[in-house]
Amino acid sequence: TVSRLPNVGTTIFSVMSALAAETGAVNLGQGFPDFECDPALVDAVTAAMKEGHNQYPPMPGVPALRQAMADKMLALYGHRCDPATEITVTAGATQAILTAILAVVHPGDEVIVLEPCYDSYVPNIELVGGVVVRVALTPGSFRPDFSAIEAAITPRTRALIINSPHNPSGQVWSEADMLALQDLLAPTNILLISDEVYEHMVFDGEQHQSAARFPGLASRAFIISSFGKTYHVTGWKVGTVIAPALLMSEFRKVHQFNVFTVNTPMQHALSAYLTNPAPYRDLPAFYQRKRDLFRDGLASTRFRLLPGQGTYFQCVGIEGLTVAERELPEADFCQWLTREIGVAAIPLSAFYGNGFDQRVIRFCFAKRDDTLQAALARLAKL
Ligand code: PMP
Ligand code: GLN
Repeated sequence: TVSRLPNVGTTIFSVMSALAAETGAVNLGQGFPDFECDPALVDAVTAAMKEGHNQYPPMPGVPALRQAMADKMLALYGHRCDPATEITVTAGATQAILTAILAVVHPGDEVIVLEPCYDSYVPNIELVGGVVVRVALTPGSFRPDFSAIEAAITPRTRALIINSPHNPSGQVWSEADMLALQDLLAPTNILLISDEVYEHMVFDGEQHQSAARFPGLASRAFIISSFGKTYHVTGWKVGTVIAPALLMSEFRKVHQFNVFTVNTPMQHALSAYLTNPAPYRDLPAFYQRKRDLFRDGLASTRFRLLPGQGTYFQCVGIEGLTVAERELPEADFCQWLTREIGVAAIPLSAFYGNGFDQRVIRFCFAKRDDTLQAALARLAKL
């Protein structure tokens, strides 16, 4: 076969969004807000364009944006990083993750992923000829299982990918989890790719435990963020990667031939905006209210609510929900829910390499209240 990814089709997110559009369903599938970002941010892009910021920026990104990111990392996580050598602006987290893997994973190297995981990780590893080593998060709770991770480590393990707050489960790793990981990796040369795109969506008084807070992790990590999530602009595709200078120099070798640079006016707009902590400081309360509204509405349905302290996703169990007296697989259930009930969701099986089906589906609550109410009114029929 000519295909480098023979087992990959169209991502579930595109498939479910297309089905929702086709059927007129309320789209709680793909993760993106259905409300607008701060108009000041849009004005700042226009202003940057009018000021003539329309040519290539420096390869690693607009210096003011890298400086603002460095200041934020120090203020929030006590992590000092040099914007000249340790921060690169990327075309969203997706490009950052692929570029990090391209930069450090050799053919035959093993990369550990914790399933369920975001659907780009595995194809990214396969594209570079790496060997995917799948370790399950604890079934039911989605907590990290450090003895299983330890058992998966071999002399060929090159990297481990983690993601907290976690898509799809909404679980947030604790300080104890991060310390356990730091201890586990201490005697190894394993690199860490820490996908922290939901860092500002943590609820119930919990704290995001960035790898940046832990020197033994930060010294071996690519720490990945996305402005799309934090500022309600998923279509902008701007993020950052932070890594120690030696790792970053490898990252930039690939980045310069991958995208070279990321769009200039958005970087200018974001650099001024990022110096104000209010938007990301207020985000937990903003999303916690939506999560609670959505959970309260679901409480009277037959869905089983799973706990979650982060991200803009809510998972629910569908055991006991029969369709024509049949228990459908998750993916078929989501198709049915979209077509017949008019609400789109994502099956958790999409986050597993072997399509593992545990009768759980994911809803996105990054929606206007009236959208959530409309979805709840339809789901109340179940
Ligand atoms: N990682 C995770 C866990 C995500 O949920 C997403 C967003 N869907 C990404 C990475 C990609 O982020 P971006 O849109 O910035 O590429
Ligand atoms: N990360 C988003 C989600 O999990 C989707 C991004 C995408 O469509 N690739 O829903």
